[in-house]
Amino acid sequence: MLKFPVIAFSLLLFFSTNSLLVSHAHLDGDSTVTKPRPKKKHPLLDVIVLDAGHGGKDPGAIGTHGYQEKKATLAIVQKLGKLIEDELSGVEVVYTRKSDKFIELYRRGEIANEKKGKLFISIHCNSTPEKPTKAGGMATYILRPGKTDAAIRVAARENAVIEFEKNKKRYDALSDIDFILTSMSRSQDVKFSEKFASLVQKELRKSVGLKSNGVEQAGFFVLVGASMPNVLIETAYISNPKEESLLKSDAGQLKYAKGILEAIKKYKETYEDS
Ligand SMILES: [Zn+2]
Repeated sequence: MLKFPVIAFSLLLFFSTNSLLVSHAHLDGDSTVTKPRPKKKHPLLDVIVLDAGHGGKDPGAIGTHGYQEKKATLAIVQKLGKLIEDELSGVEVVYTRKSDKFIELYRRGEIANEKKGKLFISIHCNSTPEKPTKAGGMATYILRPGKTDAAIRVAARENAVIEFEKNKKRYDALSDIDFILTSMSRSQDVKFSEKFASLVQKELRKSVGLKSNGVEQAGFFVLVGASMPNVLIETAYISNPKEESLLKSDAGQLKYAKGILEAIKKYKETYEDS
């Protein structure tokens, strides 16, 4: 007796669900969609990886008055880490190095992945072969094939530190093609990296006040391994004496830390809401 209504109800349910599926597929403009996809919520921005460039036997670039890039990057990272821990509850800070230690470029990405980082921030200083220089300003880089000669030169200089590593061969296969493939396979990450990079430039402009050289792109080895949105910040030109003093001073380092913290706060809202 009850069988017929149950079958009828099942059929009704089947067709109505199916028509929902069809309309869903149409809305998406994707005929391959066969079942409704729940709106995917982005994971929380709960782990931030701070990467102080260079360290140990690798001093990085050296300023006109002898200040070393590795010291500036570590000082900024330590100040930034403290600010994040104080002001962003629920966010864990991971450091690729907390002291004057040499860490291979590939290892930095590995650390970030092992700790399940959601954002990777590598801190560096720009430099020119001639010292002193009048060149100056700040730029934030994302991982994509280099567009301009200047950006390619910056990446080549930063990548050259593999000279300090025992097994340089591991980087042999990394070419522009790899950067294209890496960025294509992580289009979501690239989108978020770009968003964060522009926030960094905006906030550093406010807090540090140096000229912004904008968001750039190039093939940095250190960014290839980190499977999460990632950026590399060239904080200032250490070969420019004025900017070298800024990088060396506690007050200057704190300005960088505060600017990047503001960018993280704004980015965190966008990232978690998307
Ligand atoms: Zn560097």
